[in-house]
Amino acid sequence: MLDIKIEKTKNPKAKPTGPLGFGKIFTDHMFIMNYTEGKGWHDARIIPFGNLEFSPASMVFHYGQEMFEGLKAYRGDDGNTYLFRPDMNAKRTNATNDRLCIPNLPEEDFVQAVKAIVKTDEDWVPTEKGTSLYVRPFIIATDDFLGVAPSKTYLFIIILSPSGAYYASGLEPVDIWIEDDYVRAVKGGMGFAKTGGNYAASLAAQVKAHDAGYSQVLWLDGVERKYIEEVGAMNIFFKIDGEIVTPMLNGSILPGITRDSVLTLCRDWGYKVSERKISVDELIEAQKSGKLEEVFGTGTAAVISPVGKLRYKDDVMTIGDGSIGEVSQRLYDTVTGIQTGKLEDKFNWRQTVK
Ligand SMILES: *Cc1c(COP(=O)(O)O)cnc(C)c1O
Repeated sequence: MLDIKIEKTKNPKAKPTGPLGFGKIFTDHMFIMNYTEGKGWHDARIIPFGNLEFSPASMVFHYGQEMFEGLKAYRGDDGNTYLFRPDMNAKRTNATNDRLCIPNLPEEDFVQAVKAIVKTDEDWVPTEKGTSLYVRPFIIATDDFLGVAPSKTYLFIIILSPSGAYYASGLEPVDIWIEDDYVRAVKGGMGFAKTGGNYAASLAAQVKAHDAGYSQVLWLDGVERKYIEEVGAMNIFFKIDGEIVTPMLNGSILPGITRDSVLTLCRDWGYKVSERKISVDELIEAQKSGKLEEVFGTGTAAVISPVGKLRYKDDVMTIGDGSIGEVSQRLYDTVTGIQTGKLEDKFNWRQTVK
């Protein structure tokens, strides 16, 4: 159990009134905890949200030793505030930490810290349908040192941002660019870790895809550029001839919590579900023969993001008949229903913030 000191702000901000958007508005408080070699994690505290001061020599600015997580707090119709599988974010934090030589954080401390900061700013959890309070925990290396080595000091910080409904009026399909030049990650690299460097590596392809009129990049494997990996902030699923297929976790794919939840639900519903290699050629073939029935991304932000079009070189594949797939819609309704307390929580995924 962390002993969390709480210092409340003397100047609470006005709550936003217009559309919330994503990631630009922050709440009144933040959680901070220090790590010092020899002493471990210490000084857990909740303080007013504000700027922090760092030496320009802080290691995180130079070599990118950092990790982050992303989850949401939802307001239920019953007035409760809910989190969705925060224990999974805690586990993934340590998987990322191991890869980046960042010290582990006890899982129960992670969950306790998330709940404490969300409770403190609970009146910031928006109430409109589809809205949520985005929770961003992250760890940065803070030694003032230009040598390349793991830092001996860190900060674990959690900030909160009220966020608008991802879909204004029902699920909307996105068009996706299958990138055949740049790669995001390779086996043995840090593709499975939730760390800023992976995002820095993805920007050039993202810009290229945007310029061509596509909203997201679908990455191929870093060696043969033949097998589907993921969308960079979402995992990807296909329904091919009745079978639900997603790339297996191979070290270069981020193990999404939404991905895991979708696999669990589809198996529970009796679908044939496979985690395996999927080549672009297989997709093109399936699409030509009319067997590519649904394509959707999964991630905390959108939950389920149906794909309307997939582009690979000169091939533009339209998925299904352009309407939202049956499985995509059912998954969206079920996951969001569990998250907001409307549906039975058969797998014990929901946690109440008390
Ligand atoms: C966070 C993330 C995802 C989605 O993970 P969820 O836990 O479902 O939100 C997928 N890919 C990458 C690269 C990510 O960073």
